[in-house]
Amino acid sequence: MSSKNIGFNTICTHLGEIKDQQFKGAVSPIYMSTSYAFEDVDIKRYPRYFNTPNQEALGKKIAALEKGEASLIFGSGMAAISTTLFAFLKKGDHIVLQRAIYGGTANLVNEEFEKHNIEFSYADTQTAEGFLEKIKPNTKVIYIETPSNPLLSIIDIEAIAKIAKEKNIITIIDNTFASPVNQNPILFGIDIVIHSATKYLGGHSDILAGAVVSSEKNIDQIFQVAKNFGGSLSDFTVWMLERSIKTLGLRVKQQNYNALELAKWLKNHDDIAEVYYPGLSSHPNHEIAKKQMKGFGGMLSFELKEGLDASIFQKELNIIKSSMSLAGVESTILSPALTSHALLSQEERHIQGIKDGLLRFSVGIEEKDDLINDIQHALEKIKVTA
Ligand SMILES: *Cc1c(COP(=O)(O)O)cnc(C)c1O
Repeated sequence: MSSKNIGFNTICTHLGEIKDQQFKGAVSPIYMSTSYAFEDVDIKRYPRYFNTPNQEALGKKIAALEKGEASLIFGSGMAAISTTLFAFLKKGDHIVLQRAIYGGTANLVNEEFEKHNIEFSYADTQTAEGFLEKIKPNTKVIYIETPSNPLLSIIDIEAIAKIAKEKNIITIIDNTFASPVNQNPILFGIDIVIHSATKYLGGHSDILAGAVVSSEKNIDQIFQVAKNFGGSLSDFTVWMLERSIKTLGLRVKQQNYNALELAKWLKNHDDIAEVYYPGLSSHPNHEIAKKQMKGFGGMLSFELKEGLDASIFQKELNIIKSSMSLAGVESTILSPALTSHALLSQEERHIQGIKDGLLRFSVGIEEKDDLINDIQHALEKIKVTA
């Protein structure tokens, strides 16, 4: 089966699947062997070489979803990110990163790169020009994330890819928040796409995994480092992830719908000061989002009006759970100032625009009216106590 002539949901359900020749079962068999014969075969199969039957099967599916040639599946999003960065950066090289990136990625750069004499700069503005200013003669990689966490800012993927190509710089995007349902950066000229598969690809808050998609050539370069770092995913979890991705298109479509409806409802609510969602026409980069996204995703953020306590609000919610992670079928919410961005100083949070009353909402697949009622009920409760 080739990805050329089939659509997204068919790729999700079928592409790469292993035929059960023995019993004709409906789903891919799972091969847990860590030991394979090597006589008479030209590949040495071993889970840490990313080439077991299940790893290769799922790799084909994820590559097809992101319109790339090949992919590798990792034990976590951070394993995918760290391995890829170290595959393209060596002593004396320089990387430009977007300032608003996932906290774990920022920690990796801030805590590890100096030890390896790799230079880095953060681009403060959300425009391609802001990145251009930071490029130096030894810049080898540009790293972006759009929509960003937690304020859902949008950067023009095509513009970034263009300035990088002109200077022979590799571009890497963390496409976790959009998922391949909503955004395929390779079509806009990005070289390498990374996912924390823990989020939308897994989608049920029960799998830790990562994935990288690119050309055969880049994937081979990443593999040469990956086999040394040893970050591959166990075959049982690979199989779980294959199962999860079958419903990726359906899940994210419902999350897109719910998030847009909720964003509009919150925007019109008297108790809400601000809503951040790229699908709203009031979002500063709505036009860029429309150009590069097919749907606007399941993540949104909002601020309660002055005087309404965000942490009491969270406790009054019944359906929407407080949770650090995101992108599951269940709706979850967190306060960045108290959790994901708590280690930043008040001043740094201020620079990034993260207010104390900000709430990051990962919208699930529940009925949108139930989510609206849950929020309305919690707002009424806190106003009584305020
Ligand atoms: C969660 C996340 C990661 C890290 O992935 P893990 O699977 O937790 O290692 C990277 N980027 C983004 C945007 C994430 O949300």
